[in-house]
Amino acid sequence: MSRLVLVINSGSSSIKYELVDVARGRAVASGLVEQIGEPQGRLVHEYDGRTSEWHGEITDHTHGLTLAYRTFAETGLDLDEAGVAAVGHRIVHGGKVFTQPTLITPEVVETIERLADLAPLHNPANIIGIEVAREHFPDVPHVGVFDTGFFHTLPPAAAAYAIDADVAEEYGVQRYGFHGTSHEYVSEETARLLGSPRDEVNTIVLHLGNGASASAVRGGVAVETSMGLTPLEGLVMGTRPGDVDPGVLLHLGRHAGMDIADIDELLNRRSGLKGLSGVNDFRTVTERREAGDPRAALAYDVYVHRLRKYVGAYMAVLGRVDAITFTAGVGENAASVREDALAGLEGFGIEVDPAANRVRGGHGRVISTAASKTAVLVVPTNEELAIANAAWAFV
Ligand code: ADP
Repeated sequence: MSRLVLVINSGSSSIKYELVDVARGRAVASGLVEQIGEPQGRLVHEYDGRTSEWHGEITDHTHGLTLAYRTFAETGLDLDEAGVAAVGHRIVHGGKVFTQPTLITPEVVETIERLADLAPLHNPANIIGIEVAREHFPDVPHVGVFDTGFFHTLPPAAAAYAIDADVAEEYGVQRYGFHGTSHEYVSEETARLLGSPRDEVNTIVLHLGNGASASAVRGGVAVETSMGLTPLEGLVMGTRPGDVDPGVLLHLGRHAGMDIADIDELLNRRSGLKGLSGVNDFRTVTERREAGDPRAALAYDVYVHRLRKYVGAYMAVLGRVDAITFTAGVGENAASVREDALAGLEGFGIEVDPAANRVRGGHGRVISTAASKTAVLVVPTNEELAIANAAWAFV
């Protein structure tokens, strides 16, 4: 029987996919369909060390997945012959309902649809991905893996917003957290690399990608995270601000003539690194900063300052911290961020080894000194593998 699981991450105008061999724990092929619904769409497919590209109009998600399916066959891996044992779907918002990977049934789809109020940009796109994939693969289990799932264990003190409790209850306003698949995977990998049982390790995970979030994980159980009702709260991100005084939004509503749509756009697209420096890509911010651009320098400083603040807060939440782990694009690659975020914390038992920190590589590694009481690690995240493993459990 095939041990191949197709993982689908369907966004509003894109589909990311990866075919994972769960027996070997690695991707066999992967791809990205972009700019769905626009005149110039693009598909990039990687298999067997080769990259294939396709350009042209991609009318909708069905068309996008059909193209991907065809590209598999054309580049030498016919999915009908190879067999797909299950399909894993990344779903952004599981609300209070979905705390575990869930076999997708029509009732489950209805519930995900209902939860779209909480994630209007994401859940509807996730549902399209499910529907399209079920047409292609009608006879295998489809499993939803929820970004919020790992954080269902947040204690009430961390999950509640201090607003009118009746309003919060009626509208589902509480902190849910996101990037849960990554935080869970990375905290497990951290324990494995340290050679300790998961339930004995307290970890602060810093997931720093385009979106960014921190979590405090006590013995494998999430007890705090930086994202809230939506993925806007917390750390500074590519285009999102993380924490802002809610009064800023009232002020802009009253004095800048901004309505809800304008504020939504400001917070989701024109804030974070982009808002501060004009660019959202961390590498470009770094290049500009090194070239002496003061806006890029400020963006970097705000980014690192926020990160330090969260590390300090989560040290207090956990009491004892065994590990601080960096992951995702910035966390895995930007040695200066790791160094600057934790500089001067020797008094708290945290000491990064500058030489180990500068070593590059795609593997999990410890970058703290032998004397550091808290281990500092870099662990590449692999949400697709985690989703594939979760889906495989239903085969
Ligand atoms: P996503 O949230 O889209 O999965 P990623 O985890 O791929 O994002 O992270 C993307 C971010 O990582 C971008 O801001 C990018 O500039 C940054 N990044 C990637 N490689 C490097 C690098 N070598 N140095 C610094 N930043 C990097």
